[in-house]
Amino acid sequence: MNTVLKNPNRGKFTHFLTEKDFFEFLDLPYLPPEVRETGEECELNSLPELVDLQHIRSDLHMHTTWSDGAQSIDEMAKKAIERGYEYIVITDHSKFLRVANGLNEKRILEQQAKIKEWNESHSDLTILSGIEMDILPNGELDFSEDFLSQLDFVIASIHSSFNQSEEKIMERLMAAIDCPYVDMIAHPTGRLIGKRNGYSVNLEQFIKTCCRNEHHY
Ligand SMILES: [Zn+2]
Repeated sequence: MNTVLKNPNRGKFTHFLTEKDFFEFLDLPYLPPEVRETGEECELNSLPELVDLQHIRSDLHMHTTWSDGAQSIDEMAKKAIERGYEYIVITDHSKFLRVANGLNEKRILEQQAKIKEWNESHSDLTILSGIEMDILPNGELDFSEDFLSQLDFVIASIHSSFNQSEEKIMERLMAAIDCPYVDMIAHPTGRLIGKRNGYSVNLEQFIKTCCRNEHHY
């Protein structure tokens, strides 16, 4: 306590560029945010190995110029190789999202053929064929299960009718989770930080249901 009272910086504002600087200022060992959860981290003798950029093997959610992305499949693949990825999944928007030039069944199959061609002529990366499929306002999915079974990876997302009740939003999310071909739900709160409020979602129930359905994968 005494040392605090004698602190010559007391009452002054000090700005720090990094968290590390802040910890150093307080003469504390640096603890990265990932381990700062319960207070028990203060007892740690050494830090656990944390997930870092070097561990990232893939990107599972990528838009290309086929829908509203800024780069072609080729350009995305090139960047992925530069980053040392092993595989990527091309997941453009689906047909419901017209503003994003979403893909219908025919265009997805065309894209799939292009991806197959790419894979046949490259060995340093594997491209998988997927989709970011809309969960429609009425809870239906943008594609039939029959069609989805032809894709390597399926993301389901809500991009419409954000003002629906929590009950309705949950119905939509549950319909997607229950579909045996859906591998991932993107942006489950719908929120864009600083730009857009999300929709009403019961995240706890959502996560519980995802855990219950993990046998899908
Ligand atoms: Zn999305």
